[in-house]
Amino acid sequence: MDQTAQDRFRPLIAQRLAELAAELEAQADSVQPISPDVSIGRLSRLDSMQAQQMALAGRRRLEEQRSRLQEAMRRIDTGAFGRCLICSQDIAIERLEHQPDAVTCVPCLSRRK
Ligand SMILES: [Zn+2]
Repeated sequence: MDQTAQDRFRPLIAQRLAELAAELEAQADSVQPISPDVSIGRLSRLDSMQAQQMALAGRRRLEEQRSRLQEAMRRIDTGAFGRCLICSQDIAIERLEHQPDAVTCVPCLSRRK
């Protein structure tokens, strides 16, 4: 994939990163420690803690996604974006448009399963 084709993915990746940042921001409230004087209705404290664990797990997933996208941005910088890490062939554009952090092509992905 030539550099021009790689650079075309920058806005897409930047947009995804902005969306993730907004989601992480919105989630920040739900991972605060549970205050004892907060009215939590019929939820027991245990339920609240479980909900918080799920929120934390969701947050970790978002953070992992963010680091994969940041990594994809770095691969554009080094000219390695869009190249399969396993077979070194170009990854299909449609796949990258759907998942810009993909590091393997579809044939390699299905071979690994
Ligand atoms: Zn491959």
